[in-house]
Amino acid sequence: MCIFCSIVKGDIPNYTVYEDEKVLAFFDVNPTSVGHTLVIPKAHYSSLLTCDPEDLTHVMKVAQKLGNQLKEKLGADGMNILSNVGAAAGQSVEHFHVHLIPRYENDAEIIKFAGIEKPNFEELLEKIK
Ligand code: AMP
Ligand code: ZN
Repeated sequence: MCIFCSIVKGDIPNYTVYEDEKVLAFFDVNPTSVGHTLVIPKAHYSSLLTCDPEDLTHVMKVAQKLGNQLKEKLGADGMNILSNVGAAAGQSVEHFHVHLIPRYENDAEIIKFAGIEKPNFEELLEKIK
């Protein structure tokens, strides 16, 4: 059983921020900012890309609500909301989760897009259609 399924089952302790029938949110055990929270569906999906669309909608609704709550209560200035898919993208737990990472002015730079040489956008569009 995956580690987040064990949390849902109650076998591994967590700091629950929110819970309903389908969704659980808890503090990330290794936070990258104060208030770093994970929102997960209780059902196991390996990532956002394989999540049932209805569960995904519910997870995102909860993420929005908690995002606002964290921002207001912790006085965050901004927030990174993201979900890693696959090891290449840094996913370490293969149970879909959304990171809510409150950001504070002048905090350490956590996420940065390095930028690549511009591709041929026309060719790229053709490729993905
Ligand atoms: P990712 O690398 O996107 O898959 O994120 C997985 C996150 O889960 C990491 O930020 C970990 O710190 C966090 N994590 C792993 N185990 C636990 C746990 N038992 N309780 C809370 N967070 C956890
Ligand atoms: Zn799982």
